[in-house]
Amino acid sequence: MTHSTLSVRGGGHSLAGHTFAPSGVLLKTARMSTVSVLPGAEPLVRIGSGATWGMVAHELAPHGLAISSGDTASVGVAGLTLAGGIGRMARHQGLAIDSLVSAQVVTAQGDTVEASEHSHPELFWAIRGGGGNFGVLTQLTFRPRRIKNILYGDIEYEPVDVAGLVARWADEVRGSDDRLTTVLTVSVNSSRTSSSVNVRWCYASDDEGAARSATDRLRRLTSLRKEAVKIAPYSDVLEDVSNFRADHMAMRNAFVPILNDRVISRALEFVATSAPCVISFRGLGGAIAQVPETDTAYAHRTAETLIAVTKNASEDDADAVFSASADQIWAGISSRSDGAYVGFLDGATQDEIKQAYPEATLRRLSAVKRLYDPTNIFRNNHNVLPFPEPLSYAPLGRSRRCGTT
Ligand SMILES: Cc1cc2nc3c(=O)[nH]c(=O)nc-3n(C[C@H](O)[C@H](O)[C@H](O)COP(=O)(O)OP(=O)(O)OC[C@H]3O[C@@H](n4cnc5c(N)ncnc54)[C@H](O)[C@@H]3O)c2cc1C
Repeated sequence: MTHSTLSVRGGGHSLAGHTFAPSGVLLKTARMSTVSVLPGAEPLVRIGSGATWGMVAHELAPHGLAISSGDTASVGVAGLTLAGGIGRMARHQGLAIDSLVSAQVVTAQGDTVEASEHSHPELFWAIRGGGGNFGVLTQLTFRPRRIKNILYGDIEYEPVDVAGLVARWADEVRGSDDRLTTVLTVSVNSSRTSSSVNVRWCYASDDEGAARSATDRLRRLTSLRKEAVKIAPYSDVLEDVSNFRADHMAMRNAFVPILNDRVISRALEFVATSAPCVISFRGLGGAIAQVPETDTAYAHRTAETLIAVTKNASEDDADAVFSASADQIWAGISSRSDGAYVGFLDGATQDEIKQAYPEATLRRLSAVKRLYDPTNIFRNNHNVLPFPEPLSYAPLGRSRRCGTT
């Protein structure tokens, strides 16, 4: 018997296009969006899976609470959590999954279960990074942190000696205070020159003096063009990308163990070949790296940096794509990387799935899949097969969106 394809949409930001105009049955969770703070000495928050992270941040702000999610307000709670969730306070709070206490899941068999460290622990392990393969999440419970305001800044540099600047930034991240999370972004215009270089930083505290000294050296990386700093609730620093269209954006990403000169020069060569585009270097480590790699299906805990390149379609281009020559350069980065972030994959071929999960993680995910969805009903996603193909870990080639074979 063949099943019609079932897709589950929360915030609708699947970069692989799984929830953008899918065929078959589309299950929308948007109306399950209640955010309830459960009082206690250590408060918990129970969230309907269709809420967005912007809604959560706004509800939590008056309570002086926050959860590190991602950069974007319009991204869905369940979708981001199922990927891991790398946000503006990641070096201080870890990933979004590191604040997850439990989740209610409706399985392929129609059972409603609460997955946590103590109940369905393998399912709980799998949903923290393993994607939407194991059932429909309906409610999620998180342990938020007490943070009233944070400091948030944007430092723009003169775009000279960009490779040297990236290397100096990486050195700073290695030695920095864990309250500080930074992302360095380079925009490359169509004439292949860097039009802007900036570091967005978030200091997970309202201590202005401590934030100033933690960020001082960032100001000396090279000449500054301008700088902006604000003190605000976490909810105010999330961006809104609610007009997102998967077919208008192409992405490449790689976790790198060490951001050395060779990786930096390859990455900048890739963006010069792919211009116009934007490359970001996210500084990881801190609290992310304090969780053992096998504790969650997100298994890239020791990576120092996540490199992500975004290319938007031009007005006369329906689809954003990277060229074959750019992909050849990328293969050199990806083959030496620690793999890819599933949340930023714009395709879902089995080669891409193998980039997102180390071999042991993928085997364990397959075993959980056999238990909770043996007939692969939840397959319109970054699909973990219940009975995997023989594993051959090849570097990524050109992406094919939504490939499920
Ligand atoms: C503009 C933009 C910015 C982003 N920024 C960040 C960032 O800063 N940090 C980060 O970590 N990631 C980021 N992401 C990646 C994002 O986390 C993933 O794309 C995520 O899957 C989007 O979730 P969604 O609910 O918005 O999308 P959807 O398209 O609604 O869902 C994506 C997938 O999640 C699964 N899913 C969603 N809801 C459920 C549910 N209730 N039950 C079961 N499965 C479900 C489905 O498999 C679905 O295909 C960004 C993406 C975009 C497009």
